[in-house]
Amino acid sequence: MSVPSINTLCVQGGYTPGNGEPRQIPIIQSTTFKYDTADGMGKLFDLEAEGYFYSRLQNPTCDRVAAKITALEGGTAGMLTSSGQAANFFALFNICNAGDHIVSSSSIYGGTFNLIAVTMAKMGITATFVSPDCSDEELDAAFQPNTKAVFGETIANPALTVLDIERFAAAAHRHGVPLIVDNTFPTPVGCRPIEWGADIVTHSTTKYMDGHGGCVGGAIVDGGHFDWMAHADKFPGLTTPDESYHGITYAERFGMGGAFITKATAQLMRDFGCVQSPINAYMLNLGLESLHVRMARHCENGQAVAEFLAGHPKIAYVDYCGLPGDKYHERAKKYLPNGSCGVVSFGVKGGREAAAAFMEHLKLAAIETHVADARTCCLHPASTTHRQMNDEQLAAAGVRPDLVRMSCGLEDKADLIADIAQALDKI
Ligand SMILES: *Cc1c(COP(=O)(O)O)cnc(C)c1O
Repeated sequence: MSVPSINTLCVQGGYTPGNGEPRQIPIIQSTTFKYDTADGMGKLFDLEAEGYFYSRLQNPTCDRVAAKITALEGGTAGMLTSSGQAANFFALFNICNAGDHIVSSSSIYGGTFNLIAVTMAKMGITATFVSPDCSDEELDAAFQPNTKAVFGETIANPALTVLDIERFAAAAHRHGVPLIVDNTFPTPVGCRPIEWGADIVTHSTTKYMDGHGGCVGGAIVDGGHFDWMAHADKFPGLTTPDESYHGITYAERFGMGGAFITKATAQLMRDFGCVQSPINAYMLNLGLESLHVRMARHCENGQAVAEFLAGHPKIAYVDYCGLPGDKYHERAKKYLPNGSCGVVSFGVKGGREAAAAFMEHLKLAAIETHVADARTCCLHPASTTHRQMNDEQLAAAGVRPDLVRMSCGLEDKADLIADIAQALDKI
């Protein structure tokens, strides 16, 4: 059979039951696994045999769901984490040590900005932030001899900028480092960054992948294309023996396709323990089974709401790459030909106060610090998720003080538009 389409992989990827086995991915709710001999288990510890010994490192339920996400992204290996924050931290920290440096798009999720700019800085890992629309010269100038990774978001939350993945990948590769792309908003149904040159893809599965506001989670997928050994001096963690693992050299033992995820599991999961629970992984998989169906509706509703807002006299501006006049429309046509996502950002005329008043009049759309679930919700980032940023940082992140982020759910688009219309009428 030819490679199944992404629609089929959403439903059946990652797990193929054998004769008489459960049709649904079984929840292996067990911390530990039993062995007949100490020696047999020792081989697992030494990464010489495959198997499970402790759910802090690996669990069969989580691995099957990770395998589905890996297939969806077209990667070679993947893992689940307890949250999207953990996924981005692991993806970066797996190759950055104290004294190293990251080049990141400035237009990223507030939590990730804080992680990179504040918390990782405390660990001695510095960063240079560049506009996703910077010139090639500006991008090249951001690199330092100690740069180990480039980071960006396919569609940034909440600014909705679209990353020119090919250009950022080319710059990263010119400087001998991988491009890590957070693909949370489009999901692999909308864009597969590895096909455009990204090396590592991360997700907050909390968003569309789960899609029901049910469980926090994250995922990391390795595309398997980055040659660590060709840049051995930059990535000693992958290319020299790991003394905490009996002298294993990950890039030698597990190759380009497996080294990154094996190291992240064996070292970072072991030491930080940011695991997803098996029951959450099971729920995540229920969401993944309908991801391709839901994304189409999220995009349809986002497009309809964006078009309505763009024509409304009380709206100052609308950011949605599906709108022909949008700054990112052309780039979206290339990277997101089937639609972007259900999230629409816009400004209400009258600024901060008008935005807040508008949101309070909404009946269907709830005020939540969440996006990308089945129910429509909205948020005022400047007073919530991005409140730790000063005006300059807000501007760099593409977040204006009057910006409202609306995440269009799966309701009927006519009802969503009617709700927005009545709330705008009241201000
Ligand atoms: C929400 C989000 C995160 C953080 O994920 P959590 O699951 O909340 O930890 C990271 N990146 C993006 C783009 C997000 O939207």
